Amino acid sequence: MTATDRLTEVLSNIRAAEAEAGRPDGSVTLVAVSKTFEADAIEPVIAAGQRTFGENRVQESQAKWPALKAAHPDIELHLIGPLQTNKVKEAVALFDVIETVDRDKLARALKTEMDAQGRTLRLFVQVNTGAEPQKAGVLPEDAAAFVRRCREEHGLAIEGLMAIPPFDEPPAPHFALLAKLAGEIGLKTVSMGMSADYEIAVAHGATHVRVGSAIFGTRPKPA
Ligand SMILES: *Cc1c(COP(=O)(O)O)cnc(C)c1O
Repeated sequence: MTATDRLTEVLSNIRAAEAEAGRPDGSVTLVAVSKTFEADAIEPVIAAGQRTFGENRVQESQAKWPALKAAHPDIELHLIGPLQTNKVKEAVALFDVIETVDRDKLARALKTEMDAQGRTLRLFVQVNTGAEPQKAGVLPEDAAAFVRRCREEHGLAIEGLMAIPPFDEPPAPHFALLAKLAGEIGLKTVSMGMSADYEIAVAHGATHVRVGSAIFGTRPKPA
């Protein structure tokens, strides 16, 4: 199977999961995660019609996406990995959505840089639903206050929440928690679910699923 075949299969699985959950057709956006893959592996997937992509590193993205975006201006690029403040300038120039806003210092830097570049990116707050010490994201109990500070103190519109559940736990309770938090805070966008569990995420209300290896194949190196 090619990446294009697998894309078709993942999309049809998403549509089936939407129907199964009684959700409108097309209510879930597939973010195709192309990290570690070169432009020549990504191009066929773009040619097949996919327009939303995710990357986890700014530097790697700078090597391949400016040319791909120039050729396909309707592509929407999501940053799904941690963002250091010294990379904010490059990130604001290249990405359309940053899914990993998780601290005040980063929020301030994003506001300053978006104003300077005259660009408005869509922003999601990352939540560490498993409270894992090594993982980025705000704690679930701090999410509402952080979103409020983003709005009121930093002047940022937050569109939604994103989470990466612990690797070694069933994801469903984490998906349920993230969707509940989004509802409580009044956010409609929920980014959750990866290759192994995106259908479960759709059942729990994901609006965005981030799927890499199920489309592009096993990654050539760890990311
Ligand atoms: C790599 C990555 C994904 C995609 O993972 P797969 O298991 O390959 O689908 C999703 N979200 C984040 C944050 C990632 O870093």
